[in-house]
Amino acid sequence: MNLSLNQKVILISGGAKGIGAAVAKGLIEEGGIPVIIDPSGEEARQIIDFANNQALHLPIRLIRAADASRAVEETLKKFGRIDGIVNNAGSNDGVGLENGNPEAFENSVSKNLFHYYHLAHYSLPALKNSQGSIVNISSKTAVTGQGGTSGYVAAKGAQLALTREWAAELLPYQIRVNAVIPAEVYTPMYENWIQSFPNPEEKLEEINRKIPLGKRMTHADEIAAMVLFLLSSKSSHITGQHLFVDGGYTHLDRAL
Ligand code: NAP
Repeated sequence: MNLSLNQKVILISGGAKGIGAAVAKGLIEEGGIPVIIDPSGEEARQIIDFANNQALHLPIRLIRAADASRAVEETLKKFGRIDGIVNNAGSNDGVGLENGNPEAFENSVSKNLFHYYHLAHYSLPALKNSQGSIVNISSKTAVTGQGGTSGYVAAKGAQLALTREWAAELLPYQIRVNAVIPAEVYTPMYENWIQSFPNPEEKLEEINRKIPLGKRMTHADEIAAMVLFLLSSKSSHITGQHLFVDGGYTHLDRAL
């Protein structure tokens, strides 16, 4: 299937590692141009090499609105267009009710959520020109809860709500907005989390056993395949959707 992503310029927050890196690499394979907004230098360098320099790395940690504004400005200066956004950067930072406090909660929501809005807001004029596509990466924790991570889950839930809200607001411009919901994907973030258990290997096996399809984690490139489809014109009549790419983990009977 030709996704017609050739020469399409796509902003990917957190595009140097994990799921974001898989999206960037998949896009390069389709002839597209990723703009990797991520402070991680070495990992981003490898992706730029993989792209034969047909990519841009912006070493920015998105925190304040001005960070996203600068990322959009620099992209437009270099390429003159934006065809899509993958809002992906985030971290499950364990700020809960008991193990947190109001300041930590506000900080967690802010760093996991606000830049999704900032990037979409500043890219909007360019997306109107390209009739682009927005993909928000959320998490199954938004619909199942996890315990001990109120800030992250509040942000992930808001991302799903904003997906519907933006899909509605942007209908007149033919800009589509969808969310992809991963559950268990072995990325650097996941590795850090699993290592926090006393017996990480045992914990990993326990989780694998609960994933209905194949008793294994989702691979980052399986998330990327859905994201690329949603960015492409092949998904031209799909908007406002929440797509679970999780081997049935969220919805199928755990007894299976
Ligand atoms: P990851 O392995 O930690 O990779 C994320 C990348 O984003 C890292 O390079 C990170 O840099 C960067 N980053 C973090 N915050 C940033 C910011 N504010 N601005 C720019 N870059 C930033 O994470 P991942 O597992 O691929 O997760 C990607 C997305 O998938 C997240 O939204 C996460 O919530 C979601 N998700 C993942 C899973 C899973 O199983 N992995 C499950 C559900 C949802 P640093 O390392 O320097 O911070």
